[in-house]
Amino acid sequence: MNKPAELKLATVPAWINGKALAPAGRTGEVFNPATGQVTKRVCFSDEKIIDAAVKAAAAAFAAWRDTPVLRRARVMQKFLQLLQANHSQLGKIVSEEHGKTLDDAMGSVQRGIEVVEFACGIPHLLKGEFAENVGTQVDTHTLRQPVGVCAGITPFNFPVMVPLWMFPMAIACGNSFILKPSEKVPSASIRMAELFKEAGLPDGVFNVVHGDKEAVDSILRHSGIHAVSFVGSTPIARYIYETCAKAGKRVQALGGAKNHAVVLPDADLEFAADALIGAAYGSAGERCMAISAVVAVGAAADPLVRLLEKKAKAIKLGVDMGPLVSAQHLAKVKGFIETGVAEGAKLVVDAREQEHPKEGFYLGTSLFDHVTPEMEVYRNEIFGPILVVLRTENLEQAIRLVNANPYANGTAIFTESGGAARRFAAEIQVGMVGVNVPIPVPVAFFSFGGWKNSLFGDLHVHGVESVKFYTRTKVVTSRWPHQDTPAPGLDMPTLG
Ligand code: NAD
Repeated sequence: MNKPAELKLATVPAWINGKALAPAGRTGEVFNPATGQVTKRVCFSDEKIIDAAVKAAAAAFAAWRDTPVLRRARVMQKFLQLLQANHSQLGKIVSEEHGKTLDDAMGSVQRGIEVVEFACGIPHLLKGEFAENVGTQVDTHTLRQPVGVCAGITPFNFPVMVPLWMFPMAIACGNSFILKPSEKVPSASIRMAELFKEAGLPDGVFNVVHGDKEAVDSILRHSGIHAVSFVGSTPIARYIYETCAKAGKRVQALGGAKNHAVVLPDADLEFAADALIGAAYGSAGERCMAISAVVAVGAAADPLVRLLEKKAKAIKLGVDMGPLVSAQHLAKVKGFIETGVAEGAKLVVDAREQEHPKEGFYLGTSLFDHVTPEMEVYRNEIFGPILVVLRTENLEQAIRLVNANPYANGTAIFTESGGAARRFAAEIQVGMVGVNVPIPVPVAFFSFGGWKNSLFGDLHVHGVESVKFYTRTKVVTSRWPHQDTPAPGLDMPTLG
């Protein structure tokens, strides 16, 4: 597909012990999805390189763990400043390798930077608990200590934001870290590693390796890695969770999604339709919090579908919405248009009839109405610009429908009724809920995560749950005996 110029393509290296490393061996192609051309090669890391990264991280851990938390926080503050100063450059890298529009890419970088802002408050977050005189002359306090060498494995759709969900909090807590970003979008992680070094982070505390299943399996197998954070599709999330759990590693594995928006007849339908269009087609539907299913309740359905049709057709491909990430993904998403038609859903807006740029992995917007829960276009996470509308008679049926779905990342309700919204938030079995907010991604000082097949593990990312994930709690019980302290006996001590 590429020309002779391909021979001079830049190489994306690994980053180990504070240095770029580009060994000979397997490589992957990095595309610009807007042109369909290969722009770089990324060096895949084999078992030996992963082992070198673990050794570097393990060697750096002891001194970093013992670095006073205020000094660690100052490195985070400097990293924050450097990320802010390089916001545009990072946004450009994201746009060029993922395909999302530059404004959208800039917004995603901003949401990642907010986690670093949160991480700057680590001295307060690591404070433990203390209780005086829990027994005679006995005090108890807790310590929050880092876990050790942590790893993060991330998806293609947020090359800056999702890695930033993980490594700043892990490192602020005193851990060292190995990041394996998606091989489709490897460059932003290396740029962040350079910035972190410039901020004063000691070599070896943050390392980046690249690759596919081979690199991931080397991470999972390595006994020197103590905790793994994963974000990606559900089958891989389940695999990561099970493999890590068997090996005794701490693990949080965030998976795929099918996010529903329930629209009640009393909602401001114009407002709801605008919100749904942005949530369904923004980033070409390649967001884990994208709304991909609308549940139109009662009389809301007909007018809502008319509004969605008009607004979906008005989206300008290449201006408002970028391409999909790869030719393979484009073919897969396009296939769902044919599937939906074949299984009897009503195709209201058809991407195949829309003009699109000649080059690149572009696909326009599609909208299906009268979709039912058995259909493949509903059962699968399509991860592209296809929105499906299901219809129910009332809120109760809508809640039942959402709760029957195996995914449970995000959901939203559009209504003017406080009572209906409150009931929805209470009864819905989903991790993140929006009320007249289509993409309820929590701000960095709350935690992000779904339920059911959207998250394997217990603790969510960023916010205080990330402090719990990246630390182990120790409880210390102390007695400083006086002359009148009773001698311990053989009976079960009650300390009273
Ligand atoms: P993916 O599961 O294909 O890849 C994620 C990571 O796993 C990548 O680093 C990849 O190299 C690695 N990987 C891929 N196949 C593997 C295998 N067989 N064994 C071991 N490792 C493997 O996901 P993706 O296509 O990069 O990203 C899209 C998916 O991520 C969607 O399902 C989306 O919903 C999900 N996602 C979820 C969240 C969330 O917060 N829940 C956020 C963003 C993306």
